[in-house]
Amino acid sequence: MAGETAEAIETQELTDGFHLVIDALKLNDINTIYHVPGIPVTDLGRMAQAEGMRVISFRHESNAGNAAAIAGYLTQKPGVCLTVSAPGFLNGLVSLSHATVNCWPMILISGSSEREIVDLQQGDYEEMDQLAIAKPLCKAAYRILHARDIGIGIARAIRAAVSGRPGGVYLDVPANLLGQVMDAAEGAASLVKVVDPAPAQFPSPKAIDRAVEVLKGASKPLIILGKGAAYAQCDDLVRQFVETSGIPYIAMSMAKGLLPDGHPQYAGAARSLVLKESDCVMLIGARLNWLLSHGKGKQWGEPHSKKFVHIDIDPKEMDSNQPIDAPLVGDIESCLTALTARMDGWKKPDAEWTGAISEKVASNVAKMAPRLQNNAVPMNFQGALGRLKKIFADNPDTILVNEGANTLDFARSIIDMSKPRKRLDVGTWGVMGVGMGTAIAAAVETGNPVVAVEGDSAFGFSGMEVETICRYNLPVCVVIFNNSGIYRGTDTNATSADPATTVFVPEAKYDMMMQAFGGVGITATSPDDLERAVRDAIASGKPTLVNAIIDPEAGTESGRIGNLNPQSVVKKK
Ligand code: ADP
Ligand code: MG
Repeated sequence: MAGETAEAIETQELTDGFHLVIDALKLNDINTIYHVPGIPVTDLGRMAQAEGMRVISFRHESNAGNAAAIAGYLTQKPGVCLTVSAPGFLNGLVSLSHATVNCWPMILISGSSEREIVDLQQGDYEEMDQLAIAKPLCKAAYRILHARDIGIGIARAIRAAVSGRPGGVYLDVPANLLGQVMDAAEGAASLVKVVDPAPAQFPSPKAIDRAVEVLKGASKPLIILGKGAAYAQCDDLVRQFVETSGIPYIAMSMAKGLLPDGHPQYAGAARSLVLKESDCVMLIGARLNWLLSHGKGKQWGEPHSKKFVHIDIDPKEMDSNQPIDAPLVGDIESCLTALTARMDGWKKPDAEWTGAISEKVASNVAKMAPRLQNNAVPMNFQGALGRLKKIFADNPDTILVNEGANTLDFARSIIDMSKPRKRLDVGTWGVMGVGMGTAIAAAVETGNPVVAVEGDSAFGFSGMEVETICRYNLPVCVVIFNNSGIYRGTDTNATSADPATTVFVPEAKYDMMMQAFGGVGITATSPDDLERAVRDAIASGKPTLVNAIIDPEAGTESGRIGNLNPQSVVKKK
């Protein structure tokens, strides 16, 4: 500023890195930050709140990050998580990777120490080369060094997160960037409003022709809807395509409710039959990963000559596990629009195929029904979930958050969803610990009531956030399926006084945790207790924790994925 008079400097309006970050986010309609305060970002959180952003402060960065990840899934805008340097950053990385693996847009913004010291490894407070560490774990990673680059830096982060296959982005914000000062008008002019951040990607007409041919040649077709289809938010189009085609479908866990689970074409209760017997499988925003046994093996009726049609925005997803006969690379809305326009004279699948499926669905549903009505005390999973099933049927806008092993497996198949994006769970990794972060963001982003159905072990990873739920007075009801252990509560240790590795304090009083922070805490020992407590919680919108005591003998090792445990050949002593 050499040459300027003192008076000119005094009257010049200034801005700084803090405000430029906030203004850049707001300019792009990002109005919520999931956060844990600390050096060097405490003031950034404060100022964001003062500037009208919603800033939700958590007790641990992993949970704030899981909140941001699911906010991205629900809104198609990057969920933002703001953390301190080194340890806070590392805690946030778990959820950044989780967002990336799940294809959800998220931006992890972490404060960091000064480059000069980090690069010479001179031992700064919480020194760490965060950018280098984040890079392999997310879709893109950037560092901003100058206040004048904040606009571009945030624009790049947003576009990287939401365009193409969505994912997690790391944004490194050194402490001294935040304090940098520049002329306010120049600062404002440096901000970027991202134009068309997630451009449509049209499939080629040739690819559409090929897909139509393959589908027409099928006699036992099947559609698999994945959470990519739910993310795409073209719900009416998905429904129109499925209904016009007449093809039976199953929904991956978070795609449940995209069409109501009670839909006549829904083959969820005949999953084994349709995976085995189908001769053509169309994947819409679903991957042939471990959750679908890689499209291989007995479950898929191998050896088979199934054909595959695959809609995905990422060309690299094609042929990942099975050769794809008709790859449709493009966004789901564009692909389904093009396909739907080609359905004139479409012949729906034979009644022989759809009839066999309906019969199997009806008989499996009938088999399950009496188990769901059992009133056993102590409760088992089916008796407890039978009641929750009714509650969700009566409250279709309530969001179900679900994690655990048996609690997850049973709830996924028992509780029907009738609206899109109402089931939020452990996602692609099957990770435990997402529960409270997910529940909090679901409530914050939608305002709908949330019921988090949690295994007692799963809850433990994020349980401290019940304080956050109470502090922000969120309409979240946490239901803990408390069988006093991991998988079961009955393991014993024959060799020492230590408890077995998989058991917890029996019948722990988790309800008191919620009471400790002013919420409602209730123990439920019977299905009647449980139903009453959850209905009250949804009606009142009060933070509630229902400690549902489940028979410690109920439950199996690793739920339905026990086969993934390696077996030891050494004989037990
Ligand atoms: P699920 O676990 O339900 O099977 P996945 O997360 O494995 O679903 O797969 C979702 C897929 O959807 C990913 O391969 C991702 O690239 C894709 N996807 C996400 N959004 C879109 C979109 N708008 N259009 C097309 N594909 C999408
Ligand atoms: Mg348990």
